[in-house]
Amino acid sequence: MNNLTIQETQELTQLAQQFDLSDEKLKVLIIDTFIEYEALGGDQSEAGFRIMDVYDHHCAQAAITEIFNSKEQYLLDIVNKFVIISTLGDCPQCGSELQDHEESQNGIYWLDTECSNCDYSCSNEPDWDCQPGGYAYDS
Ligand SMILES: [Zn+2]
Repeated sequence: MNNLTIQETQELTQLAQQFDLSDEKLKVLIIDTFIEYEALGGDQSEAGFRIMDVYDHHCAQAAITEIFNSKEQYLLDIVNKFVIISTLGDCPQCGSELQDHEESQNGIYWLDTECSNCDYSCSNEPDWDCQPGGYAYDS
């Protein structure tokens, strides 16, 4: 059991339709077969990468042949560009778990949010320039 899937794209939908599969079925088929053929490790750290960035090329070709029952090069070219994402969390880049850190300064609290896997981060830290003492305050 892994917690990886493929990011939804137009190319994925087109490929699924071409082979008479649902998008969900094709995602599972790609991830499971790539792991079975050891083209992917199935680790959470692979989330956020294109398949071609993390796969074993030789094994990937075999996995593609298994999935589509075809050795056509264009199939690997399409699948190569699919982005692997995690199903464990809400990171907009890779789907991994986000971690909140509460910060405070001058009695004001805010949250810094960081992804546990990729470099995504966001914050609702206030705009200090608009706070008392900031140059834009009262202007
Ligand atoms: Zn992430």
